[in-house]
Amino acid sequence: KRRNPHQPEFVQAVQEVAEDIFDFIQDKEAYHEAQILRRIAEPDRVISFRVCWEDDNGNVRVQRGWRVQNNNAIGPYKGGIRFHPSVTESVLKFLAFEQTFKNALTGLPMGGGKGGANFNPKGKSTREIMRFCQSFMTELYRHIGADTDVPAGDIGVGGREIGYMFGQYKRITNRFEGVLTGKGLEWGGSLIRTEATGYGAVYFLAEMLATKGDDLVGKTAVISGSGNVATHAAEKIVQLGGKVLTLSDSGGFVHDPDGFTQDKIDWVKAHKTHRRGRISEYCDAFKGATFHEGKTPWGVACDVALPCATQNELLGEDAKTLVANGCKAVSEGANMPTDLAGVHVFKNAKILFAPGKASNAGGVAVSGLEMSQNSERRAWKEDELQQMLKDIMSGIHDTCRQYGDQGGGYIDYVKGANIGGFKKVADAMLAFGVV
Ligand code: NDP
Repeated sequence: KRRNPHQPEFVQAVQEVAEDIFDFIQDKEAYHEAQILRRIAEPDRVISFRVCWEDDNGNVRVQRGWRVQNNNAIGPYKGGIRFHPSVTESVLKFLAFEQTFKNALTGLPMGGGKGGANFNPKGKSTREIMRFCQSFMTELYRHIGADTDVPAGDIGVGGREIGYMFGQYKRITNRFEGVLTGKGLEWGGSLIRTEATGYGAVYFLAEMLATKGDDLVGKTAVISGSGNVATHAAEKIVQLGGKVLTLSDSGGFVHDPDGFTQDKIDWVKAHKTHRRGRISEYCDAFKGATFHEGKTPWGVACDVALPCATQNELLGEDAKTLVANGCKAVSEGANMPTDLAGVHVFKNAKILFAPGKASNAGGVAVSGLEMSQNSERRAWKEDELQQMLKDIMSGIHDTCRQYGDQGGGYIDYVKGANIGGFKKVADAMLAFGVV
């Protein structure tokens, strides 16, 4: 805290990981001697820059952009770009820190990074978004590269924004290379990248339920968010026989007691992505659903819950409510959606609880596969990629079990993910010597 004043999200993320790592490294002299935990908790570098752009009325606007290059011990820096007014250096440092462990867990050679800007895409015209993305890349391009740092999308950055940024990178550098992931299929993108995070979070959930001899058939699910991760998680829950009761956005949540069918999910996807609408409008389109303004969905009774919107959206009290209502499993689609108090509630109740760094790793895993395809100059088939995604999620589950098995049938997935991710990165750092 002393070293990082005014960075609560970053301190929170480091604290959560350190709780588990302290135990693990206690009797391991090499890690202590090399000060590995301290070194891992300090980003390699934080780049901060000005982004100037012109709005439709000819006004010059100034924003701040960042790229946090956290750790490249096991591969090029890799992690998304977020455009949201809540973006700060603390938020990006926490995300880059988490990303480092997540990427290690995938088993693919990727380091950790994250970037973004305090730019609010809401209400901006397509041309304004384009000009902002181009200005952002005009500075970012000098810090990234296919073997150096490979950004992707995140909140507020989807296929459209990646297109504008990739176009600008190509224009400036005269290179067509896999410098960004989440690209369009026509220009180097990978099949199932869009679906991968949400699908992966549900595959992980299914793996956890399977340890109890259970599955998703007939299970009720409460999901927050209505963006890329939430809608694809909902889709996979429905495909595996579950019933999705809620979706949300920053305005509140919608409860549909009849369940979100594939048609309804398609409507939400089009509404949020193409029409840039609000989730509250769902209730005008589908009768029987209710909108709860300014509220999160955790009070709706369910068997499983998937927080898929943003950090710290599920607090200690919400976790207590979920447990009291009989929720058996929580799989985080978002990054750090559950605060520390909430994590402790789930751990104490010993329910199945997957932290984002394990359960939402499917997105970056397929990004890693996109990088491989770009290097090979080829595109793999959808069924090959689906299988690889499933295998990677299952491998992450195995790692969590290896390091998180507490006996008596209880797996501490948070501990398992933290130690599994840490060990790989720490061992690589040890191999490079003390610098
Ligand atoms: P999107 O921008 O597609 O969707 C974000 C959703 O979360 C929207 O419904 C948004 O509502 C809602 N939201 C954002 N901020 C808040 C807030 N402060 N309070 C309540 N709701 C909010 O983003 P993604 O779906 O891509 O990302 C969601 C989460 O998943 C993030 O934590 C991200 O880091 C994580 N993630 C994403 C990956 C990916 O592949 N996309 C990979 C791994 C993790 P509104 O429309 O009102 O803004």
